[in-house]
Amino acid sequence: MTKYVLPDLAYDYNALEPHISARIMELHHDKHHKAYVDGANKTLEQLAEARQKGALDGAGTLERTLAFHVSGHVLHSIFWQNLSPKGGGQPSGDLAKAIDKDFGSFDSFKTQLNKTAATIQGSGWAALYLEPLTQQLIIGSIHDHQQFVFQGSLPLMVVDAWEHAFYLQYVNEKAKFFDALWNIWNWADIGERYAAAKSAKLSLKGAVG
Ligand code: MN
Repeated sequence: MTKYVLPDLAYDYNALEPHISARIMELHHDKHHKAYVDGANKTLEQLAEARQKGALDGAGTLERTLAFHVSGHVLHSIFWQNLSPKGGGQPSGDLAKAIDKDFGSFDSFKTQLNKTAATIQGSGWAALYLEPLTQQLIIGSIHDHQQFVFQGSLPLMVVDAWEHAFYLQYVNEKAKFFDALWNIWNWADIGERYAAAKSAKLSLKGAVG
């Protein structure tokens, strides 16, 4: 069985300071993200064991647990790569054009993403997706790691709005954390994800016009 693996960070824990403290990065990556990797692998083993025993009454519950952990692993893996100590500024090229077309301007895109993150109830994320039917960029909120997802859309840029992402440094002022992230967004990474996502096809004739 293919296992999920905790990816190394491409930078040191303190590389994103002062915007994200080294202590947050260490705990967030080594403890929180790792727990989702371990949880996904454990749940897959439990499902395999249940199939072997012919005891699948709990399959639905295990599958919901699997969706939580796999989604947490995917989102955190994207988040680390979306950030860079050399980040910030604004995107260029095709991604910049698409943001202007689909959100009107970079500023309104930024405002919408920040508002989405700031108004998440409980634990969740804000995400920029490419929606493959229309080939448009859309922003959505995600509850926990896996609810309110746009089926078939690929996440390009994700904002972790769980308290574990900011509380040690920003306490109750999460809007300051979301603002600080604009100094470290890795537009090269987000632009590469956009280019790759454009080739995804849902093959749904007649579903968009
Ligand atoms: Mn997190």
